Amino acid sequence: MLIAGNWKMNTDASSCVDLARGVVRESENAGVVRVTICPPNVFLSNVVKVLDGTRVSLGAQNMHALGSGAYTGEVSGEMLRSLGCRYVILGHSERRQYFGETDAEVSRKVTKAIKLKLVPIVCVGENLDQRRAGRERVVVAAQVKYALEGLTLSSSNALVIAYEPVWAIGTGETASPAQAQDMHALIRTLVRQQFGEKIASGLHILYGGSMKPANAKDLLGEKDVDGGLIGGASLQANVFGQIIQAAQEIEQDSRTSSTV
Ligand code: PEP
Repeated sequence: MLIAGNWKMNTDASSCVDLARGVVRESENAGVVRVTICPPNVFLSNVVKVLDGTRVSLGAQNMHALGSGAYTGEVSGEMLRSLGCRYVILGHSERRQYFGETDAEVSRKVTKAIKLKLVPIVCVGENLDQRRAGRERVVVAAQVKYALEGLTLSSSNALVIAYEPVWAIGTGETASPAQAQDMHALIRTLVRQQFGEKIASGLHILYGGSMKPANAKDLLGEKDVDGGLIGGASLQANVFGQIIQAAQEIEQDSRTSSTV
């Protein structure tokens, strides 16, 4: 399992350090659960110092598809790599919605991140109108297809996909475990068709959309839900810690049941 915190445009130069320290503490007993936090770019170097030598890895929230050049205000994958980032969130619905990011741009960024050995957390998900019209599978399948077009993957650890229904992000609404499972199974099938069984079965497919301690265990307990991308609930270390703990309990339960 992978539990990733997307801090969005929150924290400041001192609270980012406190929050990162709190996440490190909360992750001490995370067992096999992988934990990553994605602070705002401007605080990546403050946070990387806190994470050094710990089991929590660093991620960014976006990057440009090119390596360098006259792109004022942008940050490249090379820069993120040089700072020690392991993950980068790409195609988040807020980037698509507020900054006009297209499927084609997401695809270029994903290709670049993989080339740099930066693991993209590729976000896909339908909006409320699309869900009401029963089009969620078509929409998400198209986003996945676009994002992964032309890719070759050396291992299932090179990529993460996050299913994030837009109607559930920051709204307090959550997909039901059955809705999440249905969409995650679809995504895994698409990955299997493109990359084969080995990559598909090892791939982390995260759920994102108002995941919190009260619903984490039910969502993470679904067969094809391999972790969470957490926004609001990642901004308090103890709350995020409860989600990590839920993931850890599920891992433990599944190991126990596979040995009996
Ligand atoms: C997100 O931003 O990816 C997210 C899932 O946010 P929230 O948990 O606040 O819904």
